[in-house]
Amino acid sequence: MNDLHPLILKFGGTSVGTTEAMQQAAQAVQQAREANPGVVVVTSALSGITDRLLRATAAATEGVNGAAAAEAAESVYAAHQAIAAALLPAERREAILHAVRSRTETFRRLLEAIAVLGEVTPRAYDAVASLGERMSAPLLAAVLEASGIPARAVDAAELIVTDAAFRNAQPDMAASMPRIRGALLPLLREGVVPVVTGFIGATPEGITTTLGRGGSDYTAALLGAALEAAEVWIYTDVDGVMSADPRIVPDARTLPRLSYREVAELAYFGAKVLHPKTIRPVIERGIPLRVRNTFNLGGPDTLVVAQGEPVPGTGKAVTLVRGLRLATVEGRGMLGVPGVAARTFSAVAATGTSVPLITQASSEQSITFAVPAEAAPKVAAALEDTFAAEIARGDIDRVALTPPVAIVTLVGAGMSHTRGVAGRLFTAVGTAGVNVIAIAQGSSEVAISFVVDAAEAEAAVRAVHGLTKQ
Ligand code: ADP
Ligand code: ASP
Ligand code: MG
Repeated sequence: MNDLHPLILKFGGTSVGTTEAMQQAAQAVQQAREANPGVVVVTSALSGITDRLLRATAAATEGVNGAAAAEAAESVYAAHQAIAAALLPAERREAILHAVRSRTETFRRLLEAIAVLGEVTPRAYDAVASLGERMSAPLLAAVLEASGIPARAVDAAELIVTDAAFRNAQPDMAASMPRIRGALLPLLREGVVPVVTGFIGATPEGITTTLGRGGSDYTAALLGAALEAAEVWIYTDVDGVMSADPRIVPDARTLPRLSYREVAELAYFGAKVLHPKTIRPVIERGIPLRVRNTFNLGGPDTLVVAQGEPVPGTGKAVTLVRGLRLATVEGRGMLGVPGVAARTFSAVAATGTSVPLITQASSEQSITFAVPAEAAPKVAAALEDTFAAEIARGDIDRVALTPPVAIVTLVGAGMSHTRGVAGRLFTAVGTAGVNVIAIAQGSSEVAISFVVDAAEAEAAVRAVHGLTKQ
């Protein structure tokens, strides 16, 4: 029996990354408590900290000296120390910084161990990756207390049971549910705000796991589902999900209402603002999920619902995937040679590379597709291997790689059935002086994608964004 339907507030890294952000977050919690006395907070690591932890881990596998490990640990400590110094009274500050110090010491020792071994096991990777949230949660709880909100940091390793797929662990909802309720409902009944570490879980044996990058949204959704939340609010640094990344398109507009399927499409085509898998637990239960701006409380936001009412024929948003190259297998002798496409894509698949886009070939003489830039050299090598005989015979000239490219996509329901959309789109891109290198083959009903040079990607996004207004 649950008479309490709390609000879950999740703060992303930029929402807790600075003194000003932490103050904003505290204000958001204060306002939420006025609307609903039961508030649960989920926090990410301070912005940039998880990246810094993982970069240092990668460097450690190449061997680091003690000084480099100490320096990495010190920079992580300093980020937390600056906020604690600005926002916590002296007596509270000491206890929090002591806890932060013990985490950064763990980090330093793990780096040294990784350097000795020359490799990082998945389990060690998660031990390091989890440290950011294990510092931000106690800090945020203390900041809330300092602003008069009773709060308690809670480590999600005690709440969320996962499998042992380190770095991308799968939560076990049935096993987690009683733990979540058992730990958080008593706090809520006492009027205390639990501040839960996002991103982290643990195996049934208690070994720390993480839920994949950006996984704090997942934590918020799991808690929302287990606690039968009234709503889940994902706080970030922009006004909800927008018609384009506002860092690229300054006049991007907030999309007030999105269906789950549209969120999935946006994410698939590169708008990483919400990962669909992570929000499924709340959407399935009909719990409303909102994306809101920590720095513009009361500003526009996005409500995500199970079913939407798409407006056919209009582009809703423009997305961008960077960091790709195009690979081309070509040669006049390919004409009529059976199985070239099948052999090409099985060779690519064998390298473990996913192909986000295959382009339209004007003839049977070439096959072109996009691959992540970092995988491009091994893909080219695998293809040269597969087609060694054809290359030797001259049937296939070569396997070519382009310089870095990006995929720009106009996303929106029913577009490809609407006459003229593609025409308007490519006119807009052409008018902006951007060269379209390739167009996606058989674009889906919901999206039109094309490839441009990496340097022209932002100009292309801005040009296409104009079409979302119609
Ligand atoms: P958080 O740290 O809060 O989890 P993320 O970095 O995961 O934040 O997501 C927010 C960022 O996503 C924004 O700062 C924005 O630059 C980027 N973004 C990309 N596409 C979009 C979009 N269509 N709408 C809103 N934000 C977007
Ligand atoms: N801190 C983790 C990351 O950077 C999780 C999150 O922010 O959601 O991926
Ligand atoms: Mg995120």
